[in-house]
Amino acid sequence: MITLPRRPRGGVHPDNRKAVTRSLAIRNAAVPSRCVVPLLQHAGPAAVPVVRVGDRVREGMLIGRAADSTAANVHAPVPGMVSGTTTLTLADERSCEAFVIDLEGEFDRLGKVAEPIDWQRTSVRELLRGIRDNGVVGMSGSGNAVHRKFNLPRAAEIEHLIVNGIENEPYLSADNRLMIEMTDGVLEGTRIAERILRPQRVTIALQKDSTQAIRNLRRRIRERGLDYAVRALPVNYPQGDERLLARAIAGREVSAERETSEIGVIVSSVATVYAVFEAIVYQKPVIERIVTLSGAALRSPANIKVRIGTPIAELIAECGGFVESPEKIVVGGPMMGHTIIDVSTPVTKATTAVLALTATEIYHGAETGCIRCGRCVRACPVGLEPTSLYKMLEHGELDQAQAAGLFECIECGCCGFICPAHIPLVDGLKNGKLAVTRHGGRT
Ligand code: SF4
Ligand code: SF4
Repeated sequence: MITLPRRPRGGVHPDNRKAVTRSLAIRNAAVPSRCVVPLLQHAGPAAVPVVRVGDRVREGMLIGRAADSTAANVHAPVPGMVSGTTTLTLADERSCEAFVIDLEGEFDRLGKVAEPIDWQRTSVRELLRGIRDNGVVGMSGSGNAVHRKFNLPRAAEIEHLIVNGIENEPYLSADNRLMIEMTDGVLEGTRIAERILRPQRVTIALQKDSTQAIRNLRRRIRERGLDYAVRALPVNYPQGDERLLARAIAGREVSAERETSEIGVIVSSVATVYAVFEAIVYQKPVIERIVTLSGAALRSPANIKVRIGTPIAELIAECGGFVESPEKIVVGGPMMGHTIIDVSTPVTKATTAVLALTATEIYHGAETGCIRCGRCVRACPVGLEPTSLYKMLEHGELDQAQAAGLFECIECGCCGFICPAHIPLVDGLKNGKLAVTRHGGRT
């Protein structure tokens, strides 16, 4: 195994625009009178419905069962009546069926003080079952089923568990608040992951500018006598990418086709280990999450704990609506998020943020010709030549683009961000991947 230098390669420094929300404590959103709950909130196939229109559901009840090991269970975020089904296009442009649940009846889970479970008496198999049953997925946008990621072959050796608190997309601060306000929950979730994975080392990675979260974590780690390192990394987008973090912390690199577990590294976000904590210690399914609402078009930005299935329009109303008409609404961060048109789109397990951006927050440069400045090449964190790939794809040279590493692209947006000619490099590369898939797949 080759050990690599741990310096960040490439990357960019967009204005982080976190100052507004970073100091805002998490607050609870109002419970919506109607939730629209997609059966596809994870990386695999849609969940299989287990309730029907007209059924009454309890809060946290299973309504969709994972179709296979890559998928995840889906639960009712509120008690009520299943009043219908609908076909949705999600923010990430995938389509799926969704249950419409009208709020009725009692909250018998979140409104009550739950007794924590002493998970240390629980076997690894049962811990994995608890994670699976409660529908825990990668909560920082990946949607990967966590029980699958953590369920490694018996012989697999994990050298490094990295808990990812980097959150380096501009505006986003929900993970930062989670580390500040729910420090013990994050650490307990990390301990559960450690018990399952048996890594030789555990590191919690943050950006240097997350000073309060760093302080809180270090203090509680010391007070609880845990053997965890807290690493404060230089601010450099997209340092939070799983493969880049494996390189920065463990000095190991893995291609896009392989899992980081194959090089002895597991990376899990702070929001994910917190969901693991709630699933195991309080047997709570993923029926809510913390979302950052920000952008200059929004009257009152916030970090809000919100029920899955809440229409985004209701979150915007929670934040006082708009001060001016937004130029665009983005779900996720501005570098890798998805623009939506329909604000009835519901919050899913993967919704990290909703941004209402004004024209001044979006750079509208007219596209001109490539001036061969090489900035996109220097910015690419995985060592690609975006400009060459883009040209190959423009000329339909799909095989050459693949050979030049098209599928190593992590779609981070650095090349497009830095390009003085405003060439839509990332869109070109994303479309190129789709074209390869349509023409018979990867070689
Ligand atoms: S979007 Fe792809 S090609 Fe562009 S900088 Fe990121 S990884 Fe490199
Ligand atoms: S950054 Fe833009 S202008 Fe410069 S080489 Fe790359 S594609 Fe060409």
